[in-house]
Amino acid sequence: MEFFGKRVNKGEKVAFKQEVASYPNSDHISVTVRACVGVRDGPRLAMLGVQHGDEYSGMEIINRVMDAVNPSDLSGVLITVPVSNILAFNSAERITPPGIGYENLNMNRVWPGNHKGLLMERIVAQLWDHVVKGSDAVLDLHEGGRAFMARYLHARGTEETDRIVGDRVQKLYTWFGQGVPVLGGVRTASHMMGSLSVQAGLEGVPCLGPELGGGGRLWEELVQVGVQGVMNIMIAYGMVQGEPVGQGLPQHVAQESTWPKTKQGGVMYNGCELGDVVEAGAVLGELRDVGGKILEKVKAPYRSVIFDTRFTPTVYPGDWTFHCGRLT
Ligand SMILES: [Zn+2]
Repeated sequence: MEFFGKRVNKGEKVAFKQEVASYPNSDHISVTVRACVGVRDGPRLAMLGVQHGDEYSGMEIINRVMDAVNPSDLSGVLITVPVSNILAFNSAERITPPGIGYENLNMNRVWPGNHKGLLMERIVAQLWDHVVKGSDAVLDLHEGGRAFMARYLHARGTEETDRIVGDRVQKLYTWFGQGVPVLGGVRTASHMMGSLSVQAGLEGVPCLGPELGGGGRLWEELVQVGVQGVMNIMIAYGMVQGEPVGQGLPQHVAQESTWPKTKQGGVMYNGCELGDVVEAGAVLGELRDVGGKILEKVKAPYRSVIFDTRFTPTVYPGDWTFHCGRLT
């Protein structure tokens, strides 16, 4: 089997740096690739971490899974990129620095890329060709980044991807399990058509987006949920032997979600936690001024499960506050 033109034989686990572009001083821009080809045939699972440069948990989840897996016990193939947007990662920012990325700052808006396009499109096109295409499923690992904390599974598609891979995406989040709530449903926003999940779905590759962590650091408990979720999926696929953990626990599945906005800037005092189920009108947080005076209260627009909370308390008008998944 070949990854980026490098041959990996059955029973081999490899890690290598792959040049995907070059800097103006002609140094290489590289991503680290980790792959494992099991001794037996089976599904091919792809994993991408850190499409957003300040979301660290995906890198850690991938590395722990790759450290744990033994090619002699594996049926199938793992192909992973722990840090996908290396330019954003090296800047400790969510997006590619504007002077480099031009209008393609957010890697997760330019899939499936373009080999003759701008820099980000070229990098994405290589990840598309060598990691995503030909896989039986892809896990696109995200989290809240510096400003937010997240704990949910992103499983949204368009009407078309729902038709092509919807049943397989549902299997992925059910297998992931552990009671982690799910954002499902169909989206229509045109700027999201370049997301990996939509483009993979159109290609016939189901994509699940675990969102676990945030705050600009790693959280052991959430990393463990991610590692277990990946292992559960591998067990369900028959790639490894073992007993899945946290199957059959109730998972809230929201068909839509929203982030209530504040009218003004201020300091957010959280009044809810990840995974809370709250009724319509429940107070999710209080916005105060820097003198401690309450400016306004942020309320749940409908009965909701909480997907994201603020980590950084300072908000501007229009900032995302609390991510509410609609429950019926
Ligand atoms: Zn992200």
